[in-house]
Amino acid sequence: MLTRIPARKELEQLGVYQPGKPIEEVKRQFGLSRIIKLASNENPFGYSPMAKEAMLQEMDKVTLYPEATAPELVEHLSVHLGVPGDEILLGNGSDELIRLITRSYIRQGDEAIMADVTFPRYETNVLIDGGSPVKVPLVDGVHDLEGMLAAITSKTRMIFVCNPNNPTGTIVGREALRNFIEQVPADILVIVDEAYYEYVTDPNYLQTLPLIDLHPNLLVLRTFSKVYGLAALRVGYAIAQADVLQSLTKVKDAFNTNRLAQAAALGALKDQEYVAFCRDKNAAGRHYLEQEFDRMGIRYFPSQGNFVLVNVLRSGDEVFASLLERGIIVRSGRQCDAYPDTIRVTIGTEEQNEAFIAALSDCLK
Ligand SMILES: *Cc1c(COP(=O)(O)O)cnc(C)c1O
Repeated sequence: MLTRIPARKELEQLGVYQPGKPIEEVKRQFGLSRIIKLASNENPFGYSPMAKEAMLQEMDKVTLYPEATAPELVEHLSVHLGVPGDEILLGNGSDELIRLITRSYIRQGDEAIMADVTFPRYETNVLIDGGSPVKVPLVDGVHDLEGMLAAITSKTRMIFVCNPNNPTGTIVGREALRNFIEQVPADILVIVDEAYYEYVTDPNYLQTLPLIDLHPNLLVLRTFSKVYGLAALRVGYAIAQADVLQSLTKVKDAFNTNRLAQAAALGALKDQEYVAFCRDKNAAGRHYLEQEFDRMGIRYFPSQGNFVLVNVLRSGDEVFASLLERGIIVRSGRQCDAYPDTIRVTIGTEEQNEAFIAALSDCLK
């Protein structure tokens, strides 16, 4: 029987997150002995042994509630990033922080500007909180910052810049982003999502943290889910001036990051050698994939992340399905709200990248 209690009308516009098929089911369906998952931009090398040790040390304390403000992790992040501790707020993944931002700042009818092809959580959360997403098309896969400025109206409350952009992997130029931040009116929040920050190797990438002191409307998002390899533990953080973060703190759950997650993140943060190792491996893998795509004559967006969006010159859904039969899981463009003739592949280990290229060549024959 259907419930008689109507949900908020904002929810009518929303779909339900479609999770991928469980790996075991795919194996059984196609009689495969192994699956290579290159679908969710997870770290193929796993996580630092120092994070594991830290979690093991913490195991016996899970009876106690976590520290609500994660003081030890914040203190280390503060030193690592060179920003005061009261300018850092931890979240249950950066996903939660995006929700806290829209919940704190979006009023009914407010507009939020974002790229037309970008991380879908911005749009979803703006809609849930009664706002209107205003989408500005990417130009050659890159944020059109001029176009985003031009889209500002009296209703604009916030602008999202995903840098590098998921799913295209592109970054915006250093000067262009700096000028943009300077031109956005001070009563509009600028959110720069840097989930893939640690993977960037292009020197033309803006370091945003030094700008926070000058711009009380700037908020930067980072995460332990990608290069640190701790996606399941759900730890992200926001960096912004203290009064912005105070608003988010008011709406967050008290114990939003758990004990094991805080311990693991701290252990992972202390192992910057591991981060450098993953960054180097990823850059080499990215180079390898790009060379192979060039050789195959297919185009892709130049990526600074740990994934590449490739134009497969036919339905991305079909290529997704043929790769799946061959034991390789990617995302089709449609699955990540991007162009229908693309797939997004996460950069894996050398062996995984080679298996992917072999399978893709086979599919595109
Ligand atoms: C993966 C990703 C996130 C989510 O990170 P969590 O910290 O795991 O919630 C945020 N933004 C972008 C652009 C991402 O690709």
